[in-house]
Amino acid sequence: MLITATQIHDGEKFLPEGSVIELDDNGTIIAIHDASGKSDATFYEGILCPGFVNVHCHMELSHMKGVVPEHTGLIPFLKHIPTYRDKFTEEQKTTARHEAYTEMYNNGIVAIGDIANTTDTLDVRAQDKMHIHTFIESLGFTEERAEMMLGFADTTYKAYASQEAKEKILRQSIVPHAPYSVSPSLFKLINSHTPQSLISIHNQESEAEHYFYLNKEGAVNELLAMLNINTDFFQPSGKSSLQTYVRYFEKEHSFIFVHNTYTGIEDAAIGSGTFAQAYWCLCPNANMYIENRLPDIPMLRSEQRNICIGTDSLASNHKLSILSELQTINKHYPEIGWETLLRWATSNGANALRMADVIGNIKPGTQPGIVQVSVNGIAKRIV
Ligand SMILES: [Zn+2]
Repeated sequence: MLITATQIHDGEKFLPEGSVIELDDNGTIIAIHDASGKSDATFYEGILCPGFVNVHCHMELSHMKGVVPEHTGLIPFLKHIPTYRDKFTEEQKTTARHEAYTEMYNNGIVAIGDIANTTDTLDVRAQDKMHIHTFIESLGFTEERAEMMLGFADTTYKAYASQEAKEKILRQSIVPHAPYSVSPSLFKLINSHTPQSLISIHNQESEAEHYFYLNKEGAVNELLAMLNINTDFFQPSGKSSLQTYVRYFEKEHSFIFVHNTYTGIEDAAIGSGTFAQAYWCLCPNANMYIENRLPDIPMLRSEQRNICIGTDSLASNHKLSILSELQTINKHYPEIGWETLLRWATSNGANALRMADVIGNIKPGTQPGIVQVSVNGIAKRIV
């Protein structure tokens, strides 16, 4: 099969005008030809690029679409989640997560970094149409029960690990939920669960998290009190959350910092400097939904941090579309440009999930999937 388009983005950059992609029936890239070689290629309006990588999602929360109001701020948002999360039937939850999976497949997503607190998403993984790294979240802001909390996560982890991968990549790792919901002891247990594992964390999503670590003041105390958690053991470090918790991890882990709404230049330097591989995942539509604020994207970019893209869940987003996330960034920061934005959504995402040998780039031997971004701003999977 030969295809071409107004523009082709190979995951890194736009190719010269008139370039043609040659693929076999399985979607494996055979070659890239220049404009002179092939005149019988099928032409697509707009941009062709590799399939998108959604580095941060929660498919198990798909039934919560529209339940939590917008612009509440993170702490009130989090108070809503346990109240509503289980007020749905199993059938409603199952239908919603299958619809979410299909929505992502159709709008060009080929791989997902998916947060799981339960084994609910074993069924969508079994569909085997997209690559999935499941991040099994451990949480518990308590010192005495840290081993028990890790044990819960480990039971869930084993259920995912025993699922057999067929066509697509299925992987899993245990990760911390967020700095304000994981105690120092639990951080250390997560660090040692699997050496060199891929870790993701909801990082600096609210200003309250910062003050909790700085001097133990602010709204995180209200959240933990609502959850009946005794925080007497917790000593504020006088530093930001990130600068505190990265010390609990060995540098051989790969790290994905998610959200980063209140991440400063020093935090970004320390995060990237600590680990063998560090990625900064932006979920702009969820940030606007919850906090009505974006991270300091120009800073992350000018400091040459590795940036990738996630949708977060339907509890905090109107749709699960990577293109929609890019459109939001483009609206606020048009100077970044589509060449860079598409790199964040494809090859950078593939690198973040450690799947770049299969997806993320249009190059011979890989099976990246091909997405058409049409001139009217719609993403559609064509391969
Ligand atoms: Zn999230």
